[in-house]
Amino acid sequence: MCAATSGYQGKSVLVIDHAPKAAAKIRISGGGKCNFTNLDVSPSHYLCQNPHFVKSALSRYPSAAFIELVERHGLEYEQRELGKLFCKERASDLIQILRTECDWAGVEVMTHCAIDQVAFTNQQYLISTSHGEFTADKLVVATGALSFPKLKASGIGYEIAKQFGLNVIPTSPGLVPLVFEGKWQERIAALSGLALDVNVSCGTHAFKEAILFTHTGLSGPGILQISNYWQLGKTIEIDLLPGLVVVEELKVLKKSGQPVQKWLNQYWPKRFTQAWLEWFPIENQLSNVPDEMLIDYAHQLTHWTLYPSDTAGYDKAEVTLGGVDTDEVSSKTFEAKKQPGLYFIGEVLDVTGHLGGYNFQWAWASGVACGLAL
Ligand SMILES: Cc1cc2nc3c(=O)[nH]c(=O)nc-3n(C[C@H](O)[C@H](O)[C@H](O)COP(=O)(O)OP(=O)(O)OC[C@H]3O[C@@H](n4cnc5c(N)ncnc54)[C@H](O)[C@@H]3O)c2cc1C
Repeated sequence: MCAATSGYQGKSVLVIDHAPKAAAKIRISGGGKCNFTNLDVSPSHYLCQNPHFVKSALSRYPSAAFIELVERHGLEYEQRELGKLFCKERASDLIQILRTECDWAGVEVMTHCAIDQVAFTNQQYLISTSHGEFTADKLVVATGALSFPKLKASGIGYEIAKQFGLNVIPTSPGLVPLVFEGKWQERIAALSGLALDVNVSCGTHAFKEAILFTHTGLSGPGILQISNYWQLGKTIEIDLLPGLVVVEELKVLKKSGQPVQKWLNQYWPKRFTQAWLEWFPIENQLSNVPDEMLIDYAHQLTHWTLYPSDTAGYDKAEVTLGGVDTDEVSSKTFEAKKQPGLYFIGEVLDVTGHLGGYNFQWAWASGVACGLAL
């Protein structure tokens, strides 16, 4: 997006990428269909030490602008839950659109080309690569972050930032499954493959989305979302019956004499009900259970507290939290304040979106803002 935008401005642009093919993450994202943007994008969908930083680029290049671009190229897409937009056929259709835009804008794309080092001499950037040296008046670092190293992710963007004296906020895996140890690892693994619609929270942040039980811990959209806010030592809380006033439901159950197991089976897969009642037993008939105990049990169902032992790490993370400190770059042009001609866009910055197409929208929006400013 940055290269094409800049090329259309009449600039001579070379994209250097060490991967064998450009845009690897687009190709595999969204189960091969790429969740390329969202109908509802606002700064509240992003984590950044300076929450105002994303406002300018997102308002100048909203999701409607990207939708207009892909429609112009005839991309067939579909809307899924919570405003997420996906390619209808395959993500490579979207890559082809970006390649076409680059071709029309006269951009040269060089793949298989690794950057060894960058220097700034005589007001020019000297880029040493596996394909020789290149010089440029301006250098845009769009090297992404540490997630998914098997797709050639690297930390070179942070190294370049540090080389020029820019602060880098410590990084950690984001939008990532959470893993467990000991008793809870075993219990969760035994339910591997099971999904539940819940409300999952960490501190003041909450997401009403599905969670998935796996062999190592919990995954699924709800867990990926909350992982952005979870840190080692913190707990997560799960409301297993979102939308219900559970204590009132239990009191009605007590009066009616209906069994608890049957009631829970209305909302959960039987396998989960059975496991839950083993972990947290209660009389199946509530007639003799005191109301105070019902209050405690309702709390247990709506505030199931879990202690993840870690995240599944960068190998499984969709994004990287932290990155180049946004105080170091202009929110309008993305140029480093201390280093003229050096720009940082996309995920290399300390900007992380929620799950739902927000990370690509940030890549498009920051790319266009920078491309216009080059
Ligand atoms: C499995 C997975 C699924 C995802 N699904 C979605 C989704 O559906 N929706 C969404 O919004 N976001 C999704 N994301 C996040 C999204 O892919 C990223 O936020 C986005 O790609 C960031 O764009 P970027 O251009 O900043 O970096 P990247 O897309 O990571 O591109 C960086 C490029 O720099 C190149 N590079 C790195 N180091 C060097 C070097 N030393 N020399 C030369 N080239 C180098 C890499 O090869 C790469 O091509 C997903 C991520 C993953 C891993």
